[in-house]
Amino acid sequence: MRVLIISDVHANLPALEAVLKDAGSVDAVWCLGDLVDYGPDPNECVDLVRKQPNLVCLLGNHDAAVLGRLDLSFFNREASLSVQWTQQALRDDTRQFLEQLPERIVVGSCTLVHGSPRNPLWEYLLDLSVVAANFAHFDTTYCLVGHTHIPVIFHYDGEWIEWVVPKDKEAVTLKTPVIANPGSVGQPRDRDPRAAYAIFDPEAGTWEFHRVEYPIDQVQERIIKAGLPTYHARRLSEGV
Ligand code: ZN
Repeated sequence: MRVLIISDVHANLPALEAVLKDAGSVDAVWCLGDLVDYGPDPNECVDLVRKQPNLVCLLGNHDAAVLGRLDLSFFNREASLSVQWTQQALRDDTRQFLEQLPERIVVGSCTLVHGSPRNPLWEYLLDLSVVAANFAHFDTTYCLVGHTHIPVIFHYDGEWIEWVVPKDKEAVTLKTPVIANPGSVGQPRDRDPRAAYAIFDPEAGTWEFHRVEYPIDQVQERIIKAGLPTYHARRLSEGV
């Protein structure tokens, strides 16, 4: 079974298109939240994700902010400006799609959340003690997260956290229990500007990590034309 795992698309259509093309034929698509905000094409990205086979899609903190569910004072200036821009840009049907997304969902042996199983919308799994604490908050074999925009695999043996940053096209057989993050499609932050995704086989327990180039200049131009903060364009070239 080939499941395409994507996260943090952030309204970056060229990146999403490149990932879907590169991934080829898949049995299902699981999207771990933050479909919108930062980028210029929120409606188009939601339209394209909605068409994917056996879609499971989660709510991210930026989706929630755009829906008016979060206090924007938690966001920095650039982030709150783009939330407001996206609120204006959303079509009604896009908004309705985002409205019904869950914060947490269990699919077979997998728990899916945006941030962490302990705090699905907000917690960042960056600090190893925070990662370790989160292993008590899911009871499936696998837990898939996004949110940090940094690809990583965390395995916990009850005492130590082992973490692996997979390379492009590297296939890993996951030790369990595990928390895995595919990285970000639309705004990578690991200093590699290429769009990131994973192909996961929950039956075999394999995780294949991928990076793919996309026309960054096209989306940068559209961000600037749209009047979104230029920082959201600049950072895409650096992958920060
Ligand atoms: Zn995000």
